[in-house]
Amino acid sequence: MALMTGEQYIKSLEKMNTKVYVTGVLVEDFVNHPLIRPSINSIAATYDLAHIEEHKELMTAKSNITGEVVNRFCHLHQSTEDLKNKVKMQRLLGQKTASCFQRCVGMDAFNALFSTTFEIDEAHGTEYHERFKRYMKFVQDNDLVVDGAMTDPKGDRGLAPHQQADEDLYLHVVEQRADGIVVRGAKAHQTGAVNSHEHLIMPTIAMGEADKDYAVSFSIETDAKGIFMIYGRQSCDSRKLEGGSIDVGNPKFGGQEALVVFDDVFIPNERIYLNGEVEFAGMLVERFAGYHRQSYGGCKTGVGDALIGATALIAEYNGVARASHIKDKLIEMTHLNETLYACGIACSTEGTQMKAGNYMVNLLLANVCKQNITRFPYEISRLAEDIAGGLMVTMPGEADFNHPEIGAVCRKYFAGNASVPVENRQKVLRFIENLTLGSSAVGYRTESMHGAGSPQAQRIMISRQGNIQGKKQFVKDIVDIID
Ligand code: SF4
Ligand code: FE
Repeated sequence: MALMTGEQYIKSLEKMNTKVYVTGVLVEDFVNHPLIRPSINSIAATYDLAHIEEHKELMTAKSNITGEVVNRFCHLHQSTEDLKNKVKMQRLLGQKTASCFQRCVGMDAFNALFSTTFEIDEAHGTEYHERFKRYMKFVQDNDLVVDGAMTDPKGDRGLAPHQQADEDLYLHVVEQRADGIVVRGAKAHQTGAVNSHEHLIMPTIAMGEADKDYAVSFSIETDAKGIFMIYGRQSCDSRKLEGGSIDVGNPKFGGQEALVVFDDVFIPNERIYLNGEVEFAGMLVERFAGYHRQSYGGCKTGVGDALIGATALIAEYNGVARASHIKDKLIEMTHLNETLYACGIACSTEGTQMKAGNYMVNLLLANVCKQNITRFPYEISRLAEDIAGGLMVTMPGEADFNHPEIGAVCRKYFAGNASVPVENRQKVLRFIENLTLGSSAVGYRTESMHGAGSPQAQRIMISRQGNIQGKKQFVKDIVDIID
């Protein structure tokens, strides 16, 4: 089944024994749970778009492993063109879902592990790379969603993994067996974890010799024995339980995060890709983070497109579309959004081939990309709220508009441009509210800050890659300073 449809993907989830708690309740049917379903729909879109002729070039690629056409989310980038198409695909999906579509973490983990396992084997004579290739074939053949999981709970940020008061605050190996390992710990803020077929685990920071048990990477089925998840709450998420379609803001799509707990989980040897080779933990982190910082130049600009579109619509519905300051603010939003896209494309264009054969983004530019993303979506959101007006947060609820007596009062007093149905104004205001303050603000705003690493993580990489010494030398050469 090289290319599944969205429906087939949803059916495949129904067959799993995924264990997830939502607001304190162990859920039986997670696929149809109203808080979870929108995020499943977003991933389903990554399958459905791959079957639409005009999107096939972006949504699919020819596998270097099997030679078959695969979904690009399962692909190992074979050129800078592939890297650019990845960003374009993410922008497209952002436009179509106005949410986080979650599947990128797996794609970014595949590419980081493919190149890193090759280099571990070179240094240690291990067999991780061939093993990982077999895993990639399995993923591609079955068109799987994989949660590329990096972030540990981390406890006291000033302490190394082995120094923590509770040794489980970083996921670690508790038993080495002849046939595999047993792991314990958790991964936090895991995007798309509940909707995934598999988890692909990586360490979260560079490590020293004393952290050997924490330097571990492996893949495992999401419903394997000993794994359970606790679903993250989102702002205004209980609106999804009210049954309406307007107050939720985005009636079809959404994102999700969860805490994934590993309670003594057995991992067979065939599924292990790093086990104690501590010096490679940092390399893996840097590469995964680099790819995911590139990813944001695609997904956040696509969602930005939807927010700019909503802002232009509400300006029309409010009757202010012709005002020069409104036009100028839309230009500013577009300028900021396209700057983010330019960064995503630039770090892809400047990508290079790794020893393993796949392509890596330019790390400096990818980190600059993500650093801008910790800022610009906030300004884009500010301008959207400016143009939307205060009604976005003071408007009565959907039930009031539908009420037999007060509904007419709501429609009378919340009318804008008389040629536009009041309901359209309601829908667009709620859409903007959802992206800037509601459940999709997780994916557009706060995730822009902390997803793929908080701002300081990029600044460390920018300082490492920025070549200040070389820049000083430019000046010395020009003005004849010889040390
Ligand atoms: Fe993909 Fe963006 Fe969501 Fe990350 S935040 S999984 S890049 S859509
Ligand atoms: Fe993310």
